[in-house]
Amino acid sequence: MPLLVAEKAGACFGVERALAIVERTLAEAEGPVATLGPLIHNPEVVASLSARGVRVAEELPEARGTTVVVRSHGVAPQVLDEALERGLVVVDATCPYVKKAQEAAREHARANRRVVVVGEAGHPEVEGIVAHAPGARTVSSPEACSELEGGGPIGLVAQTTQSPERFAAVARALGERGHEVVVSDTICAATRQRQEAAVRLARTSDLMIVIGGRNSANTNRLAELCAEVCETRHVEGPAELDPSWFSRGMSIGVSAGASTPKDQIEAVCTAIRALLGEGGEDPCQSPS
Ligand code: SF4
Repeated sequence: MPLLVAEKAGACFGVERALAIVERTLAEAEGPVATLGPLIHNPEVVASLSARGVRVAEELPEARGTTVVVRSHGVAPQVLDEALERGLVVVDATCPYVKKAQEAAREHARANRRVVVVGEAGHPEVEGIVAHAPGARTVSSPEACSELEGGGPIGLVAQTTQSPERFAAVARALGERGHEVVVSDTICAATRQRQEAAVRLARTSDLMIVIGGRNSANTNRLAELCAEVCETRHVEGPAELDPSWFSRGMSIGVSAGASTPKDQIEAVCTAIRALLGEGGEDPCQSPS
């Protein structure tokens, strides 16, 4: 097969669920619909929702008069409270795995543990988790643990997209510094599964095409990992494919970030097959 799609590629469970929730809200809401921040890091999807009347409200005051959808990253509990105080209808599309991390942070705080979140400070998901536990701190590496001197036991929680290696290294570093640590492993497997499948496919491909928003951190990381193995191009959609990249007989692999819906993968695969002069009923076959 000259064109194969990685076994795990494209929209994860949380993104598909959020998209389905917005569709349902559009069909059922009585007034206008907005999302609190762009629903996913995929400009094509956000533009298509906007064309159908779904506004992006960066802050709650911009969502006045709407049914507002909370995206899969989740938000601070104070934001939900404020939305209700403002009289907004709130539809919560927070991914259940993110909810689990928020609840773990809240439980640690209730048990009087200092909450430490391993993740990227400032990321919306991390800000939401931290807000569930007063005084929670974020660390991004084992080295950063030196900032956490003194105090009682620590409740350790992960941003869902953290690598298990980094999470374990932070837990180890805290233990080595004498902290008592209670670990809640809140990592979601989706990111890792996509990375492993993409790299596996890249090893047997001459060219990898990675599909997803340029503002999507997990898509950029997929492209970086594939580029370490073979020639790789990152595209947001079929219009960006350059015929000069392709030649007959080459093996082409396709992967896509967790914010890339299946129809976008199909559109890119169909366009590649057309450039190669091929047809076929299923444009997106995976390695067997
Ligand atoms: S990557 Fe995992 S935690 Fe994040 S939205 Fe997708 S399924 Fe949920």
